[in-house]
Amino acid sequence: MSTECVVLKIVAPTKRKRRFLAMMQEQYAQAVQYVIDFSCQNGKTSSIVKLHAGCYYAIREQFDLPSDYARMALRQAQGMIHSYWGAVKSKHIKKVSWPSLNDNAPLGLGIHAYRLFHNSDRWALRVSTGKRGTYVWLPLCVPQKYQDTMSLAYGDAQLYERDGKWYAKLPLRLSTDTPLVSDDAQFFGVDLGIAKAATLVGPGVVKFWSGKALQDRRRRFQTYRSRMQRKGRLDKVRASKGKERRWQRDVNHQISHELVNIVAGTPGGVIVLEKLDGIRSRTRGSKRFNRMMGNWAFRQLDDMIVYKAKRAGIPVVWVDPRNTSKMCSRCGHATRANRPDQAHFRCVSCGFQVNSDYNAARNISRKGLYVSCDALSDTARASSEVPDARLRQGHLMTAQPSTC
Ligand SMILES: [Zn+2]
Repeated sequence: MSTECVVLKIVAPTKRKRRFLAMMQEQYAQAVQYVIDFSCQNGKTSSIVKLHAGCYYAIREQFDLPSDYARMALRQAQGMIHSYWGAVKSKHIKKVSWPSLNDNAPLGLGIHAYRLFHNSDRWALRVSTGKRGTYVWLPLCVPQKYQDTMSLAYGDAQLYERDGKWYAKLPLRLSTDTPLVSDDAQFFGVDLGIAKAATLVGPGVVKFWSGKALQDRRRRFQTYRSRMQRKGRLDKVRASKGKERRWQRDVNHQISHELVNIVAGTPGGVIVLEKLDGIRSRTRGSKRFNRMMGNWAFRQLDDMIVYKAKRAGIPVVWVDPRNTSKMCSRCGHATRANRPDQAHFRCVSCGFQVNSDYNAARNISRKGLYVSCDALSDTARASSEVPDARLRQGHLMTAQPSTC
């Protein structure tokens, strides 16, 4: 597990909420100090067992802190004492002082002390007050680029104040290791496109998400905007762009959610996607592919599938997109002539006739199988063919907030 965090501003808390936060922060700081003092009087112990035994109930009673805050205070104090001992034992640090808490130290918010709620793009933190059924709601300011990341927020968090504004620091649960493809893996090929927004083909499953209605809606947005552009209503053009973006995001969330759920229902399910990055530099992709590469909605859907798969613990395999739409998924014959038009596939060699997106998804799932076998046997071919999953993950990570 990696320890990336995201820092979000709390939207203008009311006077009552500010008072609550300030009070909790104060009591929390006193509790941490209490533990540090206790340790000092008891041989500067950093044993969490001893600290807990000596302080936990005192903290709960004396500072009126709910259990999860008390646990966080203990852990924080223990961390500080621990690093004190680390510094004492280090040869490089000469002068070491006994730890004490800064004035503005953050309030530790344990994993059980809060919950995140959201309604489309709006997020709020529900913080427990220690009284059953009583909560303080803190709406969060979540920039567009962090929206997808939010679903990964998990773990002990912090609240702190800087220059009169309050912030929440939330850890993200990102699995650093790619889930392994097991021997009895079941491969689900995913083809993303325009006519069919997504096609999923796997053992016993064929599912299409139609793109037609989406295309129509997109066109209507476009027509409206050109009309407004002609009238010089740039404000309306801008508003319409935002509206389309939010709509598309909702659609993508829905598709990726359904898709990942289907795969999650099959033990050993593996998602196979076409590799998007680094294609153009190596080979001239198909026209279809290049067009989609430039389409943010398409990339967003791809990203969401990866995120949600990761969250569900489903391995993702990337394959080379070359020939996936031209190749016959029955006999392997690949030629442009196999595609009489956009929607149909007819193999000129064996006569196999199917929907073209179904054919592509079938090819993708099969490629996933080969790529995984190659990766397992670690051949030279694998290194050139397998898009490096870790590299890909790294790419996603750089898109993450770095404010930790
Ligand atoms: Zn064929």
